[in-house]
Amino acid sequence: MSDWFTEKLHDDFAQALKVDRVLFDSETEHQRLRVIENARFGRVLTLDDVVQTTEGDNAIYHEMMVHVPILAHGNVRRVLIVGGGDGGIAREVLRHKGVEHVTMVEIDAGVVDFSKQYLPMLSDGAFDDPRLNLVIADGADFMRETEGGFDAILVDSTDPIGPGEVLFTDTFYGHAKRALAAGGILVTQNGVPFLQGEELTNSMRAFKALFADATCYLATIPTYAGGPMAFGWGTDGNHRAVSLDTLANRFSTLGFEPYYYNPEVHKGAFGLPGYVRRLMP
Ligand code: SAM
Repeated sequence: MSDWFTEKLHDDFAQALKVDRVLFDSETEHQRLRVIENARFGRVLTLDDVVQTTEGDNAIYHEMMVHVPILAHGNVRRVLIVGGGDGGIAREVLRHKGVEHVTMVEIDAGVVDFSKQYLPMLSDGAFDDPRLNLVIADGADFMRETEGGFDAILVDSTDPIGPGEVLFTDTFYGHAKRALAAGGILVTQNGVPFLQGEELTNSMRAFKALFADATCYLATIPTYAGGPMAFGWGTDGNHRAVSLDTLANRFSTLGFEPYYYNPEVHKGAFGLPGYVRRLMP
């Protein structure tokens, strides 16, 4: 491998990371897995040559996908994670003492196994938490068949290519809606709007048909190149209206200090710039 890793997600835009060391490089049944070491971002996980998560900036993404719905809802007990094989989402969910049960449905056991070995800081013990039930399956199949009852469904998927493609369909979103408990919240990894605007528009069109409150919120993760990333948000609850004071009260009882998330960032994340608003159906 050359001493630079170039991400191959877009035809006309790329980012490159200097490779100080290749720690792992293998094909699983589903995708090509690599872990490289970069001076600035630490260990970097790539799947099919797309950056998935890094030691250096993973907390921004994982905290924003998890703490926004859980603190907005206020009484999340049962969580479903789709994807998330590196364990970062599970790590942040399990920090919430009120969470009683987490089901994590990951299609590729290889991602879990080698994340435990090469990226243990991402899961930080989550896979050993008795509240976690790990299911190796296609998230779309699971969602079609589950009994549901989830207060939060977090879709930490790859982009809509390869195995991840099925997680961006109306059918999947419809099954996710059915799997939510009353007032539950669906959050999805929905790409970087500046480069993947169509993906967001398509998801939001489906969300608007399914949920009373359908929008997205933003956070900027340096290695998700091209500007702020969108998190799809769908719920029939009035959770977006949660006050800053209520969030601050809930935040004060967390018992840990997030790297990125706080109540002001939470509320501000839903303030969408014009170009993102214009992508909403
Ligand atoms: N945070 C990253 C991002 O924003 O691109 C995603 C990280 S996580 C590694 C993505 C996970 O989704 C991978 O472990 C991949 O195997 C999993 N995945 C992809 N398609 C899936 C499917 N249909 N069902 C379940 N998991 C899937």
